[in-house]
Amino acid sequence: MKKYCQLCGGEREFIYNLDGYRIEQCKFCKTVCVDNMPDDKTLKEYYKGFKYCIDEDNIDLIVNDDFKKWYESFKLPPNAKMLDIGGGNGYFSLAFEKFGFGEATYIDLDSEACRYVKKLGISAVINDDVKNLAANKTEKFDFIYSRHVIEHLPNPLSLIENAISLLSDDGVFVLQMPNGLSLERLIDFQDKENRIKSLMEANSFSRLDVERILHSSKTAFDLAPPRHLWAFSKKGLKEYLAVIPDIEFKIRTYSLRDKIYSPYMSRRYKHFFLAKLMKPLKNILRVLYSMPAGGGHLVVEIRKK
Ligand SMILES: [Zn+2]
Repeated sequence: MKKYCQLCGGEREFIYNLDGYRIEQCKFCKTVCVDNMPDDKTLKEYYKGFKYCIDEDNIDLIVNDDFKKWYESFKLPPNAKMLDIGGGNGYFSLAFEKFGFGEATYIDLDSEACRYVKKLGISAVINDDVKNLAANKTEKFDFIYSRHVIEHLPNPLSLIENAISLLSDDGVFVLQMPNGLSLERLIDFQDKENRIKSLMEANSFSRLDVERILHSSKTAFDLAPPRHLWAFSKKGLKEYLAVIPDIEFKIRTYSLRDKIYSPYMSRRYKHFFLAKLMKPLKNILRVLYSMPAGGGHLVVEIRKK
């Protein structure tokens, strides 16, 4: 039975096994997805007490002048309303309110994360799925942000539809996810080594086969089931968004070293002497590896026409 891409309608083909999941890729747009999506029970079990990225040392990586300037760049109206979909640690909502841009509404499926974010003093904290907010609320938002959430969802496109339905007429929706075709992560040698091992274990590939795969459009950067179920391509998103009426959009890629779209990476290797020594070499490789498909983050900016 032929299977088709949810984004562009192109035919999908099996590319390899990974961590007990069958991985398929759209022949046309190169978006990669898990074929045997985990069921609700598996996902519930996996995310139990997840509390993703809750580390108070990270607050100053988000609540700082760089983010103030970033929010300013969207030229939001005074007392703007922000919606943070799958807001995790809540620090993006916190920065938004702390710098006086307006009120933030934080929504996340993780009840423990919600409990934590309530203590930060965010205006509205909702422990629910955004589809229920879209169905029940007439309130609209001037700035909607969803950062590294969509790749976790078995049915990701409803997140985009719901966010657009919650957007005010002059509002902007910023959707961020890993760039599935990016090769940038290959310069982080330990990550690459782990990937090589996983792919060799799950398939009858030699090391050379895996090297070839990782340096091709089958790289599927950051695909990690049951956590990350999709590796989106720019082309796939473009095809999908182009048929949604009355919106305009821009899609850009950003490096894993970007201060805004990758705030946590700067801290990751900070204390390792060897990492500091390798930095100039890595920066050269980063530029080279980002040439074919861009940096590790895909960022889509959607506005109403
Ligand atoms: Zn496709």
